[in-house]
Amino acid sequence: MQATKVAVVGGGLGGLSAAALLARGGCEVTLYERSKHLGGRARTTEVEGFRFNLGPHALYRAGAALRVLERLGVRPTGGIPNQAGAHALLGGRLHTLPRGAVTLMTTDVLSLAGKLEVAKLLAGLARIDTQPLGALSMREWLETRLTRKDSRALVAALIRVSTYCADLEALSAGAALKQLQCATAANVLYVDGGWSTLVDAVAQRGREAGARLELSARVEGVVLQAGGQRVEGVRLADGTVHRADAVVLAGSPADVAALVPEDAVLAREAREAVPVHAATLELGLSALPRPDALFALGLDGPWYASVHSASAKLAPEGGAMVHVAKYLGGTDTDASEAQLEAVMDALQPGWREKVVARRFRPSLTVSAGLPRAANGGLSGRPTVSVPHVGGLYRVGDWVGEEGMLADASLASAEAVEQALVQGNAASQRRAAGA
Ligand SMILES: Cc1cc2nc3c(=O)[nH]c(=O)nc-3n(C[C@H](O)[C@H](O)[C@H](O)COP(=O)(O)OP(=O)(O)OC[C@H]3O[C@@H](n4cnc5c(N)ncnc54)[C@H](O)[C@@H]3O)c2cc1C
Repeated sequence: MQATKVAVVGGGLGGLSAAALLARGGCEVTLYERSKHLGGRARTTEVEGFRFNLGPHALYRAGAALRVLERLGVRPTGGIPNQAGAHALLGGRLHTLPRGAVTLMTTDVLSLAGKLEVAKLLAGLARIDTQPLGALSMREWLETRLTRKDSRALVAALIRVSTYCADLEALSAGAALKQLQCATAANVLYVDGGWSTLVDAVAQRGREAGARLELSARVEGVVLQAGGQRVEGVRLADGTVHRADAVVLAGSPADVAALVPEDAVLAREAREAVPVHAATLELGLSALPRPDALFALGLDGPWYASVHSASAKLAPEGGAMVHVAKYLGGTDTDASEAQLEAVMDALQPGWREKVVARRFRPSLTVSAGLPRAANGGLSGRPTVSVPHVGGLYRVGDWVGEEGMLADASLASAEAVEQALVQGNAASQRRAAGA
């Protein structure tokens, strides 16, 4: 039987994982990436020996991304962030961050009533059934489940750091709480050498399995059969047409809609998507002024700072690599470099004299679309297979019912594999048995 010929459009971690899984499953895969580099948002840049991810990146140890990477034989090394150096940032000053029974009782960021409310919530967090909460906004959930302003502020901060979303009005409570459960179940991993090590390893697995990875190859359109109900291939910007039995689109909702311009459903999904943005400041320091202050989480503002090199190999000997971020969204969509510097002033006074390398990004797209309460949360996200066009699939952090961020990208890549490889194997078995 002839191998299914698949065109994958997009060489980020999602598209690469789909290409590798499909090639290992026996498909004849060509991946097209418009830029000169693979990796998309999972790229890492080396500046003066410091390894800068595109903003703070952490792999959820209980998430789908690690599961898929392991299936591909990719085992990232790195470290779990050290809880001892973690602080809450409130009123421009560091405080004890409640993260267990002792710190919860000793912190001054919560009143006694707030402490009791948060303790009760955290004790029962893993048992919350998130399924019925899909259509409820995170804001509504906080307001109905917690009575105190201080406990709401703390839980909102924990939701921001787990989901990257500051728009708690749009965010589904079911999706957000599931993500918080995932983050607290097994914490996260900061990856040695940065996320480009994951990109390189997945690309290598794909190539070994026979996938062709084409760079500087912009796809301009999906070619459909007459009637538009089935894919026929892809058309590249150089005018060439490449035939395929299946096409996997691994870009944003807007990228997907642009490739099938006559499709009203895809256009509507692109219009409705609510992307998640963050401002980021990457810092390479010759030394840490305060070696005991490794993490700060804003309670009265959407702030984050973390010394990633304290847990993973990301800095030259003796140096430190720090990610600072502001979660954007809702009513607060702008950030200045000075705001992020102020977070560092609180966490690491004296840091300015130690700067070797720095990079500020006022707005990065963290996720192409958050799971919206208005759509029912995770179960309302666009499906992996485009139901009205045979052979058309999509992969990304806005697709499918599982996970957020890179977990969703890799879970959707796995779902495409299930549809094209495992589904094929099952139909072949059925045909053989018939
Ligand atoms: C600041 C920041 C922090 C983050 N932190 C985390 C984190 O802690 N944990 C986590 O799990 N995730 C995190 N993420 C999200 C994570 O980086 C993404 O979810 C993941 O990398 C998305 O991969 P992807 O392949 O789906 O999309 P992308 O990486 O966006 O890749 C899409 C690719 O498709 C290509 N493309 C699009 N259209 C075309 C076309 N027509 N032709 C050819 N190529 C095309 C693009 O060039 C791009 O390379 C973070 C992201 C950012 C920006």
